[in-house]
Amino acid sequence: MAYDFDLYVIGAGSGGVRAARFAAGFGAKVAVAESRYLGGTCVNVGCVPKKLLVYGAHFAEDFEQSAGFGWTPGEAKFDWATLIANKDREINRLNGIYRNLLVNSGVTLHEGHAQIVDPNTVEINGERYTAKNILIATGGWPQIPEIPGHEHAISSNQAFFLKELPKRVVVVGGGYIAVEFAGIFHGLGAETTLLYRGELFLRGFDGAVRKHLQEELTKRGMNLQFNSDIERIDKQSDGSLKVTLKDGRELEADCVFYATGRRPMLDNLGLENTGVKLDKKGFIEVDEQYQTAEPSILALGDVIGRVQLTPVALAEGMAVARRLFKPEQYRPVDYKMIPTAVFSLPNIGTVGLSEEEAREAGHEVQIFESRFRPMKLTLTDCQERTLMKLVVDAKTDKVLGCHMVGPDAGEIVQGLAIALKAGATKRHFDETIGVHPTAAEEFVTMRTPVMA
Ligand code: FAD
Ligand code: NDP
Repeated sequence: MAYDFDLYVIGAGSGGVRAARFAAGFGAKVAVAESRYLGGTCVNVGCVPKKLLVYGAHFAEDFEQSAGFGWTPGEAKFDWATLIANKDREINRLNGIYRNLLVNSGVTLHEGHAQIVDPNTVEINGERYTAKNILIATGGWPQIPEIPGHEHAISSNQAFFLKELPKRVVVVGGGYIAVEFAGIFHGLGAETTLLYRGELFLRGFDGAVRKHLQEELTKRGMNLQFNSDIERIDKQSDGSLKVTLKDGRELEADCVFYATGRRPMLDNLGLENTGVKLDKKGFIEVDEQYQTAEPSILALGDVIGRVQLTPVALAEGMAVARRLFKPEQYRPVDYKMIPTAVFSLPNIGTVGLSEEEAREAGHEVQIFESRFRPMKLTLTDCQERTLMKLVVDAKTDKVLGCHMVGPDAGEIVQGLAIALKAGATKRHFDETIGVHPTAAEEFVTMRTPVMA
């Protein structure tokens, strides 16, 4: 049977665009549907605008610390509207770049909401198109628990477009988004409370990292409330919000921001017209080659709920394009040693196993740790400390994990990730000459293991 397209991609986000472009490059006839914004979550309401706001928030301490270096900065004033307008301009520019990338690689772009009507047919804007394969790359969506008054709360989707910076913000959650946005709001001058239901935020990260960040955020004056959860939110007559916690405490806020995870975006997608199956958490179930239970339909990225990071969606997109149209170049995505950063202030950078994971996996571990005051701060009053940690297998000497909390942690850990991926041992680290004077050199000068 002749199809309109070899591949119909639903969602022009990180993974969908990558799969569509490469498939077209391999000679396939490809269409991509996008209902909202080209570039998807990462470009529009994720990584990119978030990082711009983090840069914005960081200036507060730069101004303060400059005094130690002899500067007398003028009175620093911050204007949220300017930051948001400039951010919007940059995102518009990126949307244009994504449009050109797709069109120039020969992909047909359909702007609208796509629905699957049968395993080989997609309907969009009242038209039906057939395709040999359909790729679902529809990403995720913020999930807010339905507590009384949840309609008064916002998610990351709205936070990027607030008209003004709230004076008092309560951020709910203990994952990436909560920690990053708490840092943004706090850095820009809002009175910020971070509320997390568990003992300590960033579950799954190395224990020393979590504790260190807790100490640093506390030093900066952020209000951290752990073992806390919201019972209800009430709007008061002056427009402010009363937040009642499950333990009876009450907080006043101008904005309640929920960052309590993301669900797969499957709304009106027409999955009921297919044999696609969902896993226990509601994400699309795929095999190791991203094929769903419906043989003609594939899925990747956040909608399959594996590792919700842009570079992972990109790698999956590449794998799908190769698998379908260049099988001789197909390589499975390797999910081991994925480096990641939390752009909190200070940043976290991490790759490999946490100490807890390494012990749980049965490794006999040696831990190397260094805590120090970064050189840049020695002429300032700032008491921030950096943490660096290596988790090493005592038997094989292999470095199992690298963890850092401190300036540019993400930048530093990206390079270390290559070493770990290549199987570096602690001896390789020891024999590597440092770059002096840097913070990163500390990773190759830690000699004495921490006593257990
Ligand atoms: P998406 O990028 O979400 O793209 C899906 C696209 O599909 C969207 O454009 C959507 O409009 C479209 N779509 C959905 N349904 C339909 C339909 N029926 N028809 C047509 N189009 C449809 N990751 C990092 O690696 N680093 C970071 O710093 C980082 N920061 C983040 C910060 C925030 C606030 C958030 C929310 C996420 C962040 N992420 C970060 C995660 C990253 O954004 C995602 O992992 C990544 O965007 C997933 O790509 P995707 O292709 O699966 O989906
Ligand atoms: P996460 O899954 O990282 O964190 C969700 C947090 O919300 C957890 O602390 C969780 O607690 C808590 N939570 C979940 N449900 C509830 C509830 N009902 N009530 C109270 N608290 C709750 O999700 P995020 O929304 O922060 O981010 C989504 C994903 O996006 C991340 O996992 C990451 O993959 C990606 N991302 C990556 C970034 C980066 O690379 N820098 C930045 C931002 C996002 P508990 O731990 O107890 O389950």
